[in-house]
Amino acid sequence: MVTIEANNRVLEANEGETVLSALRRHGISVPTLCHMSDLFPSGACRMCVVEVEGMRSLVPSCAYPVANGMKIQTHSPRAIRARKTIVELLLANHPDDCLYCVRNGSCQLQDLSENLGVRERRYTGGRSLHDLDVSSPSLVRDPEKCILCGKCVRVCEEVQSVSAIDFIGRGSHTKIGTAFDGGLNVSSCINCGQCVVVCPTGALREQSHIKQVLDALSNPKLHVVVQHAPAISVSLGEEFGLKPGIDVAGKMVAAFRRLGFDRVFDTSFSADLTIMEEASELVHRVKNGGVLPMMTSCSPGWIKFVEHFYPDMLPHLSTCKSPQQMMGALVKHMYAERQGLDPKSVFLVSVMPCIAKKFEAQRPEMGTHGIPDVDAVLTTRELARIIRMRGLDLGGFEPEVADDPFGERTTAGKIFGASGGVMEAAVRTAYHMLTGEELAELEVKAVRGLEGVKEARLNVGGLEVGVAVVNGLGNARKLIEAIRAGRSDLHFIEVMTCPGGCIGGGGQPLGASRDNIRARMLGLYRIDGDESVRVSHKNPMVQRLYAEYLGEPLGERSHHLLHTHYTHRDVLL
Ligand code: SF4
Ligand code: SF4
Ligand code: SF4
Repeated sequence: MVTIEANNRVLEANEGETVLSALRRHGISVPTLCHMSDLFPSGACRMCVVEVEGMRSLVPSCAYPVANGMKIQTHSPRAIRARKTIVELLLANHPDDCLYCVRNGSCQLQDLSENLGVRERRYTGGRSLHDLDVSSPSLVRDPEKCILCGKCVRVCEEVQSVSAIDFIGRGSHTKIGTAFDGGLNVSSCINCGQCVVVCPTGALREQSHIKQVLDALSNPKLHVVVQHAPAISVSLGEEFGLKPGIDVAGKMVAAFRRLGFDRVFDTSFSADLTIMEEASELVHRVKNGGVLPMMTSCSPGWIKFVEHFYPDMLPHLSTCKSPQQMMGALVKHMYAERQGLDPKSVFLVSVMPCIAKKFEAQRPEMGTHGIPDVDAVLTTRELARIIRMRGLDLGGFEPEVADDPFGERTTAGKIFGASGGVMEAAVRTAYHMLTGEELAELEVKAVRGLEGVKEARLNVGGLEVGVAVVNGLGNARKLIEAIRAGRSDLHFIEVMTCPGGCIGGGGQPLGASRDNIRARMLGLYRIDGDESVRVSHKNPMVQRLYAEYLGEPLGERSHHLLHTHYTHRDVLL
């Protein structure tokens, strides 16, 4: 330990840590634009400069190590002047577009401008003009609002190992773009939205489906159905001032009804269904010498990643559609049929923590005769915007329950929202399929938590099964390379594209720290601990669905509606 002094307070710091890290641990706030807590500092934006006694220049606190006896002033007039000048220079090349901007009210550049008292445009000159990139089904890039902090480039390369975007051009012509400066739709972008989550401004945003949803809700000829993913109910509350992890499922269902949806279904129901199909597929592969390790298929960013970078591994992917798309197929087929509705008149909206789900819903495999199974996908943030737009008070609603026949879930379907949840739910049901009995200890602790890679050897009904749970595609890439190099002790691998799983998805409320994501995860496990039906095969509505409509897991109807295939995609380098 070393001792430093900051703003006349004596503090203890860890030898080797940066000044910024020590200050933040002691609750002293220093603004940053480019800093990413889990990655090596880039020192690009210089917003975090502080004054250190005895040094002639200001130092970037994110990249400067502490030293014993160091005396720091974080908000000296000189440090504040430097920060204000940086913001003024950024604004000189920025559109005055706040009133029309999706980040109005949640923009770090706007906040800094306010906090530093920027009240006039001190620097003027030619602004860089760029076109919007609206080519992606999942996100929109607005390079004119980009401040070149580089966070999107870093998360894409260092966390996801995709490198779909980078700095291109030189000097004042520098911008962020794709290979050959094409649209994101022709790049290797896997639509994860992690760049949107880290962007401090409105330069990156989801491709909004709000207008389509509002139009559908006001069209009397349409029967509008909504489904909500497992991870939404423990994060939506953050948009309304609640702490992360507080479950607002019942209030959210009430809000959906006030918004005018005709039916409310729970994607955790189709997560239970996914488990029935996926656990059956795993047992079938293990017993019949099928391709192993089997890899989960519910995360569409991960699927596109394999399609681009590891097409030789496509046979390892489970053929199960994701819970979103299983629900879509059931709504547009069985539900429409039983309600006497033309599938064209049924409009299905998904609320997802993920922007890759917008891409997934548009895949040609995910529909019949050109009619998509899912018509529009809202992120958690977009749902919150609609609730606010309609003046609804989420906190004031009495909780309500979702509708039959797809509104009932088990907690196994609910924990899908956290990294390790699919694995845990699948193990619970695979054990039952192999033994006819229930696991004595349902909680598979080895696969819980936020670590990027978790591995375990499990005894599932006499079968020794090697399992791995991975989140973040940089981690997935390392595991795939090991398998390609001959690693053969794994039978089942869960991969989630986003750090922490869907709770950390690209469509979730912005500004979440790792502690916030942990709180969302604990919220899901609290639900699992509190309720009594904790295995997918005991979901009474899933049992009824098989008895009355599907037949059996992996049966002909399931194969037709609930399973899919994948595509080899080229990568532009
Ligand atoms: S990115 Fe921020 S500063 Fe720029 S227009 Fe949007 S809200 Fe305003
Ligand atoms: S959505 Fe994901 S893959 Fe695409 S550019 Fe952003 S971080 Fe990279
Ligand atoms: S797009 Fe956003 S995250 Fe990327 S460099 Fe620009 S401002 Fe930073």
